[in-house]
Amino acid sequence: MIVESRIVIAGGGIAGLTLALALLKRNIPVTVHEQVASPAEVGAGLQLSANGTRCLFALGLERAVRAIASEPQGKEVRLWSSGQRWKLFDLGASSEAAYGYPYLMVHRGDLHQLLLRAVREADPDAVRTASRCTGFQQHAGHVDVVFADGHQERAAALVGADGVHSQVRAALFDARTPEFTGCVAWRGLVPRNRLPEGLMQPVGSNWVGPGAHVVTYPLRGGELMNFVGIVERDDWRIESWTEAGQTHECAADFAGWHADVQTLIAGIDRPYKWALMGRKPLEEWTVNRVTLMGDAAHPTLPFLAQGANMALEDAIVAARCIDANRGDIPQALRQYERLRIERTSRIVLGSLENGKRFHNPALADAEGAQAYVTQQWAEDKVRQRYHWLFEYDALGVPLVG
Ligand SMILES: Cc1cc2nc3c(=O)[nH]c(=O)nc-3n(C[C@H](O)[C@H](O)[C@H](O)COP(=O)(O)OP(=O)(O)OC[C@H]3O[C@@H](n4cnc5c(N)ncnc54)[C@H](O)[C@@H]3O)c2cc1C
Repeated sequence: MIVESRIVIAGGGIAGLTLALALLKRNIPVTVHEQVASPAEVGAGLQLSANGTRCLFALGLERAVRAIASEPQGKEVRLWSSGQRWKLFDLGASSEAAYGYPYLMVHRGDLHQLLLRAVREADPDAVRTASRCTGFQQHAGHVDVVFADGHQERAAALVGADGVHSQVRAALFDARTPEFTGCVAWRGLVPRNRLPEGLMQPVGSNWVGPGAHVVTYPLRGGELMNFVGIVERDDWRIESWTEAGQTHECAADFAGWHADVQTLIAGIDRPYKWALMGRKPLEEWTVNRVTLMGDAAHPTLPFLAQGANMALEDAIVAARCIDANRGDIPQALRQYERLRIERTSRIVLGSLENGKRFHNPALADAEGAQAYVTQQWAEDKVRQRYHWLFEYDALGVPLVG
């Protein structure tokens, strides 16, 4: 009997490409199938906390990642009306001192291109574009993966890294309808030359207010400011990264907010909007030789900024499990799921909680806000919310189970 060793990955996003690189570094053959014909520079900012940069650096990408990143010196909370500032936490040298790795901000398109290049350097034939996975058939010793053009590929395992609308997830488990959260998110990029110096500081800001919040941070060494504005409204239900909106509509959602927020919105080239959908964590991800990874496994709201970091952690842990169980792929995938599901479920639920904190009605006036911020963003509470996220070591978690 020929034993199939190739791992097929559906989806060449952050999770799929990182897994491919981590497997190739372990001399495990891999093919990534990406539905898009030429992956372009889509998306805006991603936050990479120490738990995520640790994964990228372990793949030999430290120099390349630092070259595309911005490193903020800290994060702050700002009040929607007065612009008052409170420290959230220090970053820069503090992140390296506490966790051994930096906290970096990157443009998703830059990180995606960097990973794609690294995978192609490791194996020029590893990535197939314009190749959409539509299904699979499981057999005792292999899985046959089916593609939209009708061809099939035999593999030891199929990893569904096909994002928030994962087809592999739908085929493994019943497609569940997500619940609309009642929030719409705006995102956009503001070129440096449209902003006054005071708004281009190397700091991440979380503007908080009743019913809405805004997150800003610099990208590409300060050439761009990333803007994400989340507002409670229920007239937009499309969950897509590529739906453009209008600047005046975004401005209307933040009418009455501080002048800095107005300046940021006015400077956005093209705002995009997406409806935030909530999904309960799955109870399992794996059936025999097929598993899920990244947003396909644990779609999350963005309120802890851990979507990309979870994808990176998943990829490293999965590669280690596959490497350690080369003769027993179903066991490797079960082990990967067992090691990852509790943490990622906790992040999904924690994100939901954090969103409520950002939008609290107590933030309406300055006095209520002072009391609320002092209580909610007290140093010990912030540590409790973030330390367990940042300290996680995907390379060191013992491979038990
Ligand atoms: C276009 C786009 C823009 C984004 N912009 C931002 C942003 O600005 N800020 C932010 O924080 N996050 C953004 N994200 C989400 C962020 O990248 C993810 O949350 C995170 O990195 C987890 O990555 P992932 O690989 O699991 O999913 P994704 O990055 O979503 O990657 C999934 C990949 O699978 C491909 N795919 C889907 N279905 C199939 C299929 N059937 N067969 C083959 N390939 C398939 C998709 O084309 C995509 O390339 C964006 C995602 C996308 C796809």
